[in-house]
Amino acid sequence: MGLRRSLYKTPAQLRAMVEPGQITAAMLDAVRALVAPGVTTGELDAAAAAVVAERGAESNFQLVRGYRHTTCISVNDQVVHGIPGSRVLEPGDIVSIDAGAQFKGWNGDSAITLVVPGGPSPVAAARQRLSEVTEGSLWAGIAALASAGRVGEIGDAVQGYIERAADADGAEYGILRDYVGHGIGRRMHEGPTVFNYRVADLGPAVRPGLCLAIEPMVTSGSDATFVEDDDWTVTTVDGSDGAHWEHSVAVHEGGIWVLTAADGGAAGLAPFGVVPVAIA
Ligand code: MG
Ligand code: MG
Repeated sequence: MGLRRSLYKTPAQLRAMVEPGQITAAMLDAVRALVAPGVTTGELDAAAAAVVAERGAESNFQLVRGYRHTTCISVNDQVVHGIPGSRVLEPGDIVSIDAGAQFKGWNGDSAITLVVPGGPSPVAAARQRLSEVTEGSLWAGIAALASAGRVGEIGDAVQGYIERAADADGAEYGILRDYVGHGIGRRMHEGPTVFNYRVADLGPAVRPGLCLAIEPMVTSGSDATFVEDDDWTVTTVDGSDGAHWEHSVAVHEGGIWVLTAADGGAAGLAPFGVVPVAIA
């Protein structure tokens, strides 16, 4: 027997993916309710950790070598992998929260971006739009998965959505190239790679049993980033803002189901004419 894990899970394994996804969603709900001026990113992380404990789950972020927190929280020009701590949120900040949980050996992974209420309106409005465009591109990618033959069709849909939004807004949006989505299951990060942009090699076939974390990371400028001196935080070189949205999604015999959305993705997929189907 080889060590290589199949990309395609059995129906029983897909059912086991539901609960960690819902715990991850509950973590982000708890954080969302707290985001306000004056709150520290460490307090947001503690709220997510409390949900993990209440639900009898484990923090899968703490299973990543060298990482000690339950979430990553990235503010303004930070795009992903920000470390929660003493930073105090200010009105109009754009804040991305990435969270995950492992339950009975299976994993969830999801991220949201919020704008802290009360900011100066032009800046806050542009940041809100960046978040909406990024979230829209995530749903476009998930919708594409519903009818895709190959995994690479997701990135084509994400990039196409971002390009149309940039044209409509007369704005520049950058899609990070150095960071990608991934398969998810027994481990938070598994194959295959899920690109957020068009690639020549469309990768593996989309078939029942595939579970993917799709996670566009988008800036309001260039896609160039650097890693800060803390060895984690990914920040834009040009100082533009970043947004990050992510869901874990299962493909099964009946269709697709967004594991990290309380409604399975019904609301987010509706504009694309896709109806999620619960895992039987
Ligand atoms: Mg994540
Ligand atoms: Mg992920």
